[in-house]
Amino acid sequence: MRLATIREGGAERVALVGADGEHLVVPQGERAGGMLDLIQAGPTAWESLARDAAGGRRVPRDGVELLAPLPRPERNLFALGLNYADHGEEAYRKAGREYRAPRHPVVFTKDRGCVTGPIGPVAVDFSLSQEFDWEVELAVVIGRRAWRTEEADALGHVFGYCVANDITARDLQTRHKQYYLSKSLPASCPLGPWITTADEVPDPHDLVITLSVNGETRQESRTDRMVFGIARTIAEISRIVPLEPGDVILTGTPSGTGFAAEPPRYLAPGDLVECSVEGLGTLSSRIVGAPPS
Ligand code: ZN
Repeated sequence: MRLATIREGGAERVALVGADGEHLVVPQGERAGGMLDLIQAGPTAWESLARDAAGGRRVPRDGVELLAPLPRPERNLFALGLNYADHGEEAYRKAGREYRAPRHPVVFTKDRGCVTGPIGPVAVDFSLSQEFDWEVELAVVIGRRAWRTEEADALGHVFGYCVANDITARDLQTRHKQYYLSKSLPASCPLGPWITTADEVPDPHDLVITLSVNGETRQESRTDRMVFGIARTIAEISRIVPLEPGDVILTGTPSGTGFAAEPPRYLAPGDLVECSVEGLGTLSSRIVGAPPS
């Protein structure tokens, strides 16, 4: 299934994305709660949603507002730093150091308020930062609680996958040393356009991942270049912190980030940023200036 969160007549609901991607199906019957409730309700609820969709109501995709599939995650997002060797190399080169791959995933978190919709304006405060940078990432959504989960079992805890743009204020990242603030600006992280359930993604480590700014490709890689794969990441995090249904993990970005370019290139108001992961859809974000904080 491909599961979207839509807003229709002021109400938010979960809808299935049709095979052609051009229409959505709103399942029959009144359903309490949104995507988070659905994920937390477990496999029986997922199966009943699929059944209710069979006789559901079709709506054209451009007739509804597509929200982030998890518009308000219950907890902060997990994310990985330097999880593609090519990005690690460009980051170390920029710092004048020789690249050494980390031995364990570099894990940080992002404020859950950073999530915003997959299509439309992304408003960021240019009085806080002049160095907004892009990072296309494969996002993993947890479906079953993972606590001290073995690597061999870890993918069985994944609900599905989507695309994220981990927009980062590089000057804040440098100034505050730690990743959290620079990657937590409100509504700065487009997520979506929908969740593709894990059963429809045979190999999440064999997908083309790309990002363009104003139509010009800036990042282009494959998810097989991740330093730590998804199973290893889930195993390592859940050895220390339980992962709960509805948690989101961003799995790192490949090379081609703006700060590593010579000279560096950053986002400006009016820029159109498009992020794709093969088979999972495309985020399309217009950068606009938010009112100063
Ligand atoms: Zn990132």
